[in-house]
Amino acid sequence: MLLTITTTYQPADDLGYLLHKNPDSCSSFNLSFGQAHVFYPEASDARCTAALLLDVDPVGIVRNRKGPPGEGRSLFQYVNDRPYVASSFMSVALAQVFGSALKGRSRERPELAETPIPLRAKLSALPCRGGEAFLRRLFEPLGYHVTAAGHPLDETFPDWGESRYYTVELEAHTRLKDLLTHLYVLIPVLDDEKHYWVGKDEIEKLLSFGGEWLAVHPERDRITQRYLRYQRRLTREALDRLLEDAPELEREEEARDTEEEAVERRISLNEQRMGTVMAALRGSGAKRVLDLGCGEGQLLRRLLDDRAFTEIVGMDVSYRALERAKEKLKLDRLPEMQRERIRLMQGSLIYRDDRLSSFDAAAVVEVIEHLDPPRLASFERVLFEFARPGTIVVTTPNVEYNANFESLPAGRLRHRDHRFEWTRAEFRAWADGIAERFGYGVTYLPVGPEDPQHGSPTQMGIFSLSPGSAA
Ligand code: SAH
Repeated sequence: MLLTITTTYQPADDLGYLLHKNPDSCSSFNLSFGQAHVFYPEASDARCTAALLLDVDPVGIVRNRKGPPGEGRSLFQYVNDRPYVASSFMSVALAQVFGSALKGRSRERPELAETPIPLRAKLSALPCRGGEAFLRRLFEPLGYHVTAAGHPLDETFPDWGESRYYTVELEAHTRLKDLLTHLYVLIPVLDDEKHYWVGKDEIEKLLSFGGEWLAVHPERDRITQRYLRYQRRLTREALDRLLEDAPELEREEEARDTEEEAVERRISLNEQRMGTVMAALRGSGAKRVLDLGCGEGQLLRRLLDDRAFTEIVGMDVSYRALERAKEKLKLDRLPEMQRERIRLMQGSLIYRDDRLSSFDAAAVVEVIEHLDPPRLASFERVLFEFARPGTIVVTTPNVEYNANFESLPAGRLRHRDHRFEWTRAEFRAWADGIAERFGYGVTYLPVGPEDPQHGSPTQMGIFSLSPGSAA
């Protein structure tokens, strides 16, 4: 089983510093299931390729098998594809052989480790349960250009059809650490088997390697489920922790309990929504962020608690809402360092406003449905054409899900002030149109429990400015 990683970043042989492996020599490592070898088929200034060759010992993996007690040994344990394909063995090898690179550490090139560079990974044989379509759904939302060549089950018997093995190339402009963590988590997810018993500590690995991107991946739930081998309790816990906020949430003890809150409370949808928005903002790497239609500051409080955000601006059309936000955030009593990070301002999203320009990201959480449909076009230009932050996170109710709220009479919207609530198809049509017109890419994410028929209660679109179409 062979994995190669190629870069054309110059000087390309800096890849050796990032991987902590000298391009001039070959190194070998003993692992519990066999050996790993690292060498460089090419290493010049212009192009450098590192290869990780896994030599899995088929007898060793049976001998060292850790499994639930009572699991018998069958012929399958001795005769199987494990030595030849990328599987959880590859993930273990990545962690043991490229451990520092996986964590983004490089003593000689710390800045390069944090810099997106052109990278191409090639896996000689990757088993994809779910086929090429699933392979694409996993890697394309992470920004990869995916090339996959399928292999027939047996060349002498073409009638037997395709196997689940693919030779796969993944290309992206990304940090090496990101490429490695994506491979680490997603190879076993595609393979859908694990050579070791999955226990609670797997949640920690998943969160530490997936934390930044998994919470906002459109296939988040399936990735988590498969990674944790369909153990429902573990999956639930992992998803809760992926979406929860780091800081302890103050319980909202609000007298003003709107219909919307009452309808959504049982599932604490609001918290999941805020957690997912935070994950999207963190994942974008934004430092200066706008919360547009910030209301009473629920998102602002979470942003303040995360030091990654150095400048936070909340805007709302309602003066009263801003007063409440100021009180709730205790802005007057914040230490100066904290106070300097945040500003509140009154303004309307349907008017062009220079104060909104030059931010890294904007969140528009449960706001668009409050705008009159004829005003929506102005809002689109104000945000996507003039303010034009690199990342825009928009959430809005999915009206299809309303059928699942028992307390909501059929045909009623969730809140008196909502001007519309969209189906999933309507939201996508709107967002696809905007992305196209203004040069953004868009990915979609369900938020809250997913109903097989009606989808999830909240729908989210994450827009990112396509490279080359900046302001
Ligand atoms: N984002 C907050 C509040 C959502 S409620 C949260 O998720 O908790 C919708 C908010 O949008 C209200 O605070 C309302 O005052 C604000 N809003 C409505 N129309 C607006 C406009 N044209 N410009 C700015 N804010 C607006």
